[in-house]
Amino acid sequence: MSYIKNEPEAKPVVLCFSGHDPSGGAGIQADIEAISAQGCHAATVITALTCQDTSHVLSFDAVDADKLKKQADVLLRDMSVSAIKIGMTADVEIVKAIHTILKTHHEIPVILDPVLASGAGTSLSSSKLVDAINTYLLPHCQLITPNTLEAFKLSSCSDDTETAAGTLLEMGAEHVLITGTHAKSALVEHYLYHAHELPQQFQNTRLPHEYHGSGCTLASSIAAFIATGLMTSEAVQKGLDYTYQTLQYAHAPGQGQWLPDRLYTPKND
Ligand code: PLP
Repeated sequence: MSYIKNEPEAKPVVLCFSGHDPSGGAGIQADIEAISAQGCHAATVITALTCQDTSHVLSFDAVDADKLKKQADVLLRDMSVSAIKIGMTADVEIVKAIHTILKTHHEIPVILDPVLASGAGTSLSSSKLVDAINTYLLPHCQLITPNTLEAFKLSSCSDDTETAAGTLLEMGAEHVLITGTHAKSALVEHYLYHAHELPQQFQNTRLPHEYHGSGCTLASSIAAFIATGLMTSEAVQKGLDYTYQTLQYAHAPGQGQWLPDRLYTPKND
């Protein structure tokens, strides 16, 4: 039997800093699946260990910040990283460690999903963490992907999403995608804000369930599209389309929120 060895070919690498969610719905598992589904490779550095099921986050513990930095440094020396995706940061020391890494790799596009609460509303952040994210991470981000509540919390402005986005752009993010899943409207509306152009609107019909890990799926798929060379707007459109598909194929392995199927096989119907 002959064995054909494929020529080694490097897939675009996305370096992820995320928490571990043992339910498999959100966090690092969401990143790996969403990034792999776009033909990219996820290199993964865990920021925190959470204890949660599909209904509740019971607790979380941040990892040691020095160890996290060491893991990332080793990977960045070894691999050519095409995008960095940041999810749950858990504490100020982790934010500062990631900041040190971003400072020395400012050529790599950074996509930040500022995870401040779980899908069911449990807080995963303090006001000190919000300040640290604003100070140390936002100025390095090509794109941040807060939902409306996160945008209001980060910007300390709850008047309207446009004013909140303006504040976040002034703080240094290049583009701000505010997702609208928390509203009650029949259509879900997302807005992509830019520093020097008019905002873009994206819409999809509201799906029937509550989902766990949709924000992680969106941000990491966008990071993968950016890693393959797409511009921000196109990557956002493709990430939203992909995420919507994963939610259409969502399943309920537990008793709480539904989980996106990021490795769905399109049905021929
Ligand atoms: N990352 C981790 C580790 C989490 O535990 C959670 C929510 O519980 C999230 C991210 C955010 O999840 P979602 O994508 O539902 O906003």
